[in-house]
Parts: sequence; structure tokens; C-alpha cells
Amino acid sequence: MKVLKHIAGLLLVIVGIIVVRTFMHAPAPMADVTQVNIDIDSNVVAQHLSESITFKTVSNQSMGDKKAEEFDGFIQWVKDTYPQVNQQLELVMLNQTLLYKWQGSDASLKPILITGHYDVVPVIPGSEDKWQHPPFEGKIVDGIVWGRGALDDKSGVVGMLEATTFLLADGFQPARTVYLSFGHDEEIGGPMGAAAVTAYLKEQNVQLAWSLDEGSFLFKGMFPGVDNLIASINVAEKGSVTLDIVATAAGGHSSMPPKNNAVGVLAKAINKLEEHPVPGGLQGLSATMFDEISRYFEFPMRMLFANRWLFDSLIDRQLSSVTFSNAMLRTTTAPTMLSGSVKTNVLPIEAIATVNFRVHPRDTPESVQAYVESVVADEQITVRSLGGRGASEVSSWETQGFEQIAQSLREVYGDVAVTPGLMIAGSDSRHYGQVADDAYRFNPFELSQDDLAGFHGTNEKMSVDAFVLGIKSYIQIMRHGAGS
Ligand SMILES: [Zn+2]
Repeated sequence: MKVLKHIAGLLLVIVGIIVVRTFMHAPAPMADVTQVNIDIDSNVVAQHLSESITFKTVSNQSMGDKKAEEFDGFIQWVKDTYPQVNQQLELVMLNQTLLYKWQGSDASLKPILITGHYDVVPVIPGSEDKWQHPPFEGKIVDGIVWGRGALDDKSGVVGMLEATTFLLADGFQPARTVYLSFGHDEEIGGPMGAAAVTAYLKEQNVQLAWSLDEGSFLFKGMFPGVDNLIASINVAEKGSVTLDIVATAAGGHSSMPPKNNAVGVLAKAINKLEEHPVPGGLQGLSATMFDEISRYFEFPMRMLFANRWLFDSLIDRQLSSVTFSNAMLRTTTAPTMLSGSVKTNVLPIEAIATVNFRVHPRDTPESVQAYVESVVADEQITVRSLGGRGASEVSSWETQGFEQIAQSLREVYGDVAVTPGLMIAGSDSRHYGQVADDAYRFNPFELSQDDLAGFHGTNEKMSVDAFVLGIKSYIQIMRHGAGS
């Protein structure tokens, strides 16, 4: 009886701890911020976004398919549409990328860079009729601007130009120099745009305090039961490595196959990779992100995150089972291409699976390859690297710049949960990060899950209301970031 009493007492204590910790795991009270009052003519800015979409500034995989005149047309449109920007800022053209410099008054302060790209991905041939409105007409219907680039990333570029124009008209004088760059080849890796800008800034001995590029957006309802707007400002981006898993076997006629056909050996290897994902977990950046967001979760998820000392492996399993959060926790594994024999009755001497890994900042391309080799180890298997790149450095989220971006969002949107985040796709920031103390990736526009489907897909669109709030955010980001 005495033992039972002790156990019951202990259980009570544990439950007590869990409950108390759950209650304490609440959002920080909203900082005292005054909402800004900025007057933006929504018709004018929507019209500008619409016009920008009509330039078919498409980056195809093959450079030969590029229509240079569409890019030149867009550049001329920027000059015609934003005369104050062109009169008062200094423009350097790097290939077809525009780099503006807005001179600050205090040379002792490191400059900042605010950047986006105006090239867009192609529309998949044959999918045009799936669009509710044509992809390159920039139709405005019922308060929504439709077309390729409405999200990625002409709204960013046009939003920054509108914000700059507003501040110039307002007589704003930056203390810190502000660079604005508008890339023309982000969708193919930025070799002639962001890379050239980065080289140019290095040559000018410019080291930026921080840069702000495209990245995540503001979302509501990203997690069940969470009504708050969540802004996760990406402070790092994943790398990408591609490996060929090669199975070899004796060839011959398919009428007399051996037991260990190369295809079968390869299939087993892929199976092993699926069953043994690259290790990951809630650490560093991912831990901070989920710690912050989970404060807005409903019971019982909030209870789990408040008591990681007890529930860590449960949380890990939960997060790993959802593709989105799994990608935040680890290097992901995606077999994408397969090849074997060239003829139906010929046994393959080689069967190859091409597997793409998105490298988490905790790993390196080399460590991923070593892990894969250990998982698929077999005398008939070799692993060949097709190359790739590691993850970016992880920028600090405890800086003045990060706080200024967060404050700007709160001034425009009210109570926003701001967290650092990890970008699972690539951006031009892998270049800009080389000349910036910290590289942030975030578009200050509010999107719905439905909007997100348009990203590189069909029916890309942005509501005029969301666009206007984004412009206000850029205005505040520049005001705070540049000081005066
Ligand atoms: Zn983009």
C-alpha cells in the first residue's frame, strides 16, 4: 500500500508539472506597437502589378528559349513607371538585373539590401486552359490580380518599388544606405543576376548588415486551431544534392535471368532508403521555430511541446509523419529518375536510381553521401554523386535587423507570431548571403493555403488587399531598417 501511495504521489507531481508547463507555454504578450496609418492608392498599385505581369520574363531551363526583349521591356517599364526612383537613386545594370543604390547619410552604418526577382517560371504547355484567367494578361477581377509572377516574385519587386516611391514622396532620407536589386534569372539559380550583384558589391567593398529576399509569407490557419497570423522569417535555406544509386549485375538474355537482377537489387536499395530517412530532429533553428509556433497550438499539442522533456520522441514521430514539417527536421530523400535496360529482352548490367536530397543545415553533402552509402551497402551497389550544394549558413534571429522586420509586420498586421524559419526551396540569397552578415528570406504578404497552390503552378494570383498590406510592410521595413 505504501508503495502504491508513493507511485500515486509521483504521478500527481508529474501531471502537475505537465499542466503548469502547458499553461506557461503561452505566446509572449503582444509588444506595445502602434499600428501605422499609411495611405496607399490600391487601384494604382494593383494596376502596376497587373502591368508587370504582362511582360513574359520567363526563365526556361534552356537559356536559348529566353526572350530578351521581354526583359528589356520590363526594365523600361520600371524606368517609366517609377521616375522618382530612377531620378533619386543610382542605377547599375548587371546584365539584365537592376541594382539601385539609395545613399544613406551616415557612412559609418553598414548598408542593407532589399531584393526580389522579376523572372518567372514557364507555364506548362497545355495547362493554359486550366487558368481561370490567362497567365500573362494581369487581369484584375473582383479584387484579385491574376497571372504568373503575382506571387513569385513580381509582387515583391513591384511592392519594393511602390514602397520606395512612397518614401521618396514622403521626404524620407535613409541614414543607412539601401540597395534594391531586382534579379532576372533567379529561377535558374541566379548565375548572371544575383551572382553578378554579389561580385559587384564585393568589388565595392560593401558588406551588408542584412539582406531581405523572397522566402516565406504570412499564413493564417497553417496549423489546426491556430488563428493567429504566423510569419516565419527564413534564416537559412536547404542545399540540394543528387546521388545516383547504381546496381550492377551480369547481363544476358531475359529468358534465363539470375536471381540477383540489377533491377531487383536497386529496388531493395531504394526501399532501404525509404525506411531509413536521414536522421533529424527538433534542434537549433527547427526547435526555436516550433517552440514559438506551438505556443499558439490547442491542447493537447501545446501540452506536448510544453513538455519536450517527456514527449520528445512522440513529437518527433508526429512531425516526421507530415511532409511539410518533416522537411523542416531533416534532409529529405526523393528518388526521382530510374533507368535500366534498353530493351525488353536484355538484362540490365546497370540499373540506376537518381535520388535528390534536400540538405538540412545540420548535414553536409559529404555526410549525406556517407549516410546513404552506409544504408544501401551491398557489393552490387555503388553510389555516385552528381554534385550539388550544401545548405546556407544559418543567420542569426537575435539581431536588430530581424527585430526591425518583425516590428514592421506587427505595425501593419497587429498580433503576428514571428519566428525564424528554414526555407526548403532555393533563393538568390545563397549569393547575397556572401556579402551580408545576416540573410533573411520573407515576403510580407498574407496568403491562404489556396493561394499557395499557384506557386510555380496554375492560377497564380494575389489579392489587392494583400498586396497593399505588403507594400505597407516594405515601407516600414525600409523606414526601420534604414533609420533616418
Ligand atoms: Zn521566386
